[in-house]
Amino acid sequence: MKLVFLGPPGAGKGTQAKLLASDAGLLHLSTGDMLRSAIQRGTETGLSARSFMEKGQLVPDRVVDALVKERLTMDDAQAGYILDGYPRNLAQVEVLSKAAEIDAALFLDVEDEILVQRILGRGEGRKDDTEEVVRDRLTVYREQTEPLVGYYRMRGLLHEIDGDRSIDDVSSAVRAAVGGLIR
Ligand code: ADP
Repeated sequence: MKLVFLGPPGAGKGTQAKLLASDAGLLHLSTGDMLRSAIQRGTETGLSARSFMEKGQLVPDRVVDALVKERLTMDDAQAGYILDGYPRNLAQVEVLSKAAEIDAALFLDVEDEILVQRILGRGEGRKDDTEEVVRDRLTVYREQTEPLVGYYRMRGLLHEIDGDRSIDDVSSAVRAAVGGLIR
């Protein structure tokens, strides 16, 4: 089973992807986590990604595409995975469509003002969690990532879920949407 989570920053993709992954025994692959780990380890990927992430911009496709393609070929990814944070623009969709056949896309939507409050309030202390950078991440999302919703809808793969509810309520809606696919 290969799933994709779509939605703006702060919508709860990471939380829901983790819950569903442990429930369904699937791998959770977050490109944000992979990139932050690369920065911490000081790898070449981390060095290329850092300045973009700190500004709330997308890391260049060639960097992220290479990271994801390599990860998807590993043994533990063969049984399936949940992608969180990838694809994030139409060029990445194109790359992914050549590497894998996606079974469903879960779209968590929440409105901008609520997202800003959530991110600024969650206090993870991430460097890209200042109000200015959060607003830039939202702009990037609306311009580059939101069009992917239409792409997956056209292919009949989209499940739209209201993300402005409790973690439990959203999680139930996620299970209702794809539960039939995972067991
Ligand atoms: P959020 O969803 O809260 O923005 P993420 O952890 O998913 O947080 O992403 C953090 C940052 O990592 C993004 O702002 C971007 O710079 C970079 N990033 C993550 N995934 C991608 C991707 N698929 N393509 C380009 N940049 C990415």
